[in-house]
Amino acid sequence: MRAREAYEHTLELLQKHHEWFKTVIPLIASENVPSPAVREALTSDLGNRYAEGWPGERVYAGCIYIDQVELLAMELARKLFKAEHANVQPVSGLTANLAVYTALTNPGDTMMCISIASGGHISMGKKKFGGTAGAVHGLEIEYLPLDEKRMNIDVDAATKRIAEVKPKLLTFGGSVFLFPHPVKELSEVAREHGARVLYDAAHVAGLIAGGQFQDPLREGAEVMTCSTHKTLPGPQHGMILCTKELAEPINKAVFPGVVSNHHLHAVAGVAVVLAEMLEFGKEYTAQIVKNAKALGEALYDQGMAVLCPDLGFTASHTIVVDITKYGDGGALEQRLEKANIVLNRNLLPWDIREGRHYKNPGGIRLGTSEVTRLGMKERQMEEIAEFIKRVVIDGEETKRVAAGVAEFRRDYQRVHYCFESATEAYEYMKIR
Ligand SMILES: *Cc1c(COP(=O)(O)O)cnc(C)c1O
Repeated sequence: MRAREAYEHTLELLQKHHEWFKTVIPLIASENVPSPAVREALTSDLGNRYAEGWPGERVYAGCIYIDQVELLAMELARKLFKAEHANVQPVSGLTANLAVYTALTNPGDTMMCISIASGGHISMGKKKFGGTAGAVHGLEIEYLPLDEKRMNIDVDAATKRIAEVKPKLLTFGGSVFLFPHPVKELSEVAREHGARVLYDAAHVAGLIAGGQFQDPLREGAEVMTCSTHKTLPGPQHGMILCTKELAEPINKAVFPGVVSNHHLHAVAGVAVVLAEMLEFGKEYTAQIVKNAKALGEALYDQGMAVLCPDLGFTASHTIVVDITKYGDGGALEQRLEKANIVLNRNLLPWDIREGRHYKNPGGIRLGTSEVTRLGMKERQMEEIAEFIKRVVIDGEETKRVAAGVAEFRRDYQRVHYCFESATEAYEYMKIR
């Protein structure tokens, strides 16, 4: 392929992606769509600059406005999360976690968290799985026991285990996160045995900001890491919130520890989304949770094994369905994608034990952050459940369902819960 062809083809692929996303139901629990204002920040010149160091103490010139943007983002983050200190420099949630491990632990120390099969994230993983905590920082990992029926940490068993293991770091949070973790119940025990307490809010930061989930920094966590693009609908970036006492070690671990340039266009986008959340966050996130419960209910009514029916399916943006009755997660994920329904296959906590694998797991995970951002409410969750049923239970031809989905999506093209929404959510912005 000649250079000009490759150039044209690349840009054409981007436009195709945008056109396609105008017609799909986006249900990936870790994704969201940012406001036009966030996208504007992302295209700004800040993405071409360096600002190593701290506002007012940079290693590079040219940071007059950049410093003000970063200070604003920090101030808004402290306010929104009622935190003593905010660091908005990690370029992702994983980087934020690595910075916390670096600040609070030494290689060879033990961290306790949930296993990946129980909903943990690869950034908390053991060395043998290539996880960040084990393979990069050299932590030993011990698991917090899961109550599989409740899809949550088993408090009694965990209390005993913490006393035995005496970890240096106790980490709450995960990527399959249906219910608030027992931070209040376990933080004190952990501290008595010498542990620091981290809460990984990558998935639920938006829900926490909106007052819809739990409030880890009040419940016993001294540091909280976030991704800024999951339930918090900002640019892809990371953030750390902590006590005053931890400000200095955390700052040092972030820079020069794990970032050099910190993606200043994204920092600007973070400032924008934090302001949006201060104004619209409560209303937005309350609707996310209502929609997740409604989607769980609707799928359950069709006979699908949505986890935790006794607990209302979820208290977050996420639901998990055991789909072993209809096939494996991998095959269903692909069929649903052909029908314009985008979600991901997911390991169930008991899958490995029953001989299933992450490529062909027994579950699918669905999140309602993005469809809520597009203005959908409980009624639309019922329609989404019907589309899913037509693929998964009825085995209808995916092409027909895809056409129906595209038609359904026509009315939901704008981003809601933001100050300005002149540009459509997935409009391709051509500035060549
Ligand atoms: C997504 C996620 C991360 C990593 O976030 P990135 O921003 O993708 O690096 C960390 N922890 C948990 C629990 C996550 O779900």
